[in-house]
Amino acid sequence: MGQDDDGPPPRGRNAGTAISIDRLVDVAQCAIRYVTVNPPGSERSLAEWFGSHLSRHGFAIEYVSNGDERASLVARLRGRDERPGLILSGHLDVVPEGGRAWTHPPFAAVHESGFLYGRGAVDMKGPIAAVVEAAIVFAESGTLPAGDLIVALTAGEEVDMSGARGIVESGLIDGADAIVIAEPTNLGIAIAEKGCYRLEIECAGRAAHASTPGLGANAVLAMAEFIMSLDALDDGARHPLLGGLTCSPNVIAGGAAANVVADACRAEIDVRTLPGQSADDVVARARRIGDGVAARRGVTLTIGNLGFPPVETDPGASIVADTARAVEEIVGARPMPTGALYATDAAVLAPALGLPFVIIGPGDPALAHQVDERVAIADLARAARIYAALIERRLR
Ligand SMILES: [Zn+2]
Repeated sequence: MGQDDDGPPPRGRNAGTAISIDRLVDVAQCAIRYVTVNPPGSERSLAEWFGSHLSRHGFAIEYVSNGDERASLVARLRGRDERPGLILSGHLDVVPEGGRAWTHPPFAAVHESGFLYGRGAVDMKGPIAAVVEAAIVFAESGTLPAGDLIVALTAGEEVDMSGARGIVESGLIDGADAIVIAEPTNLGIAIAEKGCYRLEIECAGRAAHASTPGLGANAVLAMAEFIMSLDALDDGARHPLLGGLTCSPNVIAGGAAANVVADACRAEIDVRTLPGQSADDVVARARRIGDGVAARRGVTLTIGNLGFPPVETDPGASIVADTARAVEEIVGARPMPTGALYATDAAVLAPALGLPFVIIGPGDPALAHQVDERVAIADLARAARIYAALIERRLR
């Protein structure tokens, strides 16, 4: 696909007209072909490939190790003065290809009928290719940015956000006043995301012969009662962009044989929270429910939790208006901010750096983690132009 056959020309200040669609597609294909399935991740080679690509265009490159064969990348185009910079961020890892067959092999990055297919096409190697293209186009313009232009490509997002934590601890992304997370939003703008927690429940009962269940304490029954009582986790709060708390029990295992009263059961429960709902409160409510079940059933329930907090940006923050104007400049309509129901690296980066964030990226988020994940080349190009227009607004 050439540069000129991608819909109407961009409007306004020529932002993004220098985008090379060929280079953008090449970079996205190359990124998809690096297999960075997490676990284990193995993001280092792809981080280094992006590092050499960006260093050829004047970016200073730093790597933050994330374990064996794993690294995040921070690329910085130094600003001409002390104005705060802008962080554009995406993750290098992808989820496994899943059990079902793909129409095109998941790591072949097949380009067909205007779409790019492959694991990561939308989540999020396509989006990071668009970020990198926009950053390079700015660098090629020959003027230094007013503040630092920082491209942060993280390892580990899909499992524990360890890469985002590592780059925060390194101090290598300091010096900015806003964060753009390039996760797929169909080019809408999300300014809030739910907290994402996993409750890990262990239930211990007492075995007995199944013909005399009254002599045992059935851990499977107790777990079932606990799970069916979890509606009480919702405190009734509603958020204008995110709705309410959700709770989904997705893993359960227990018992040893059909003729033995189950003395153990474990479950994992996904809980998504709103800004203002603290994990401690949610866990405390789960423990109260568990205590009631334990007393009625004669079992013990232990509840552990692991997760990321909800985060949101003030809708009046300048990054929100600037992003909306950049979208309007390229696609012709100004989007209303929305909320994201999934967690992103913003859950780590925004609180740690104390910065507002927006989530905006090409592709349908519903295709993330799916078989035949794909992104329209036209959307990748629009995204690169939007990022370029946003960099112009913030750093020219
Ligand atoms: Zn993602």
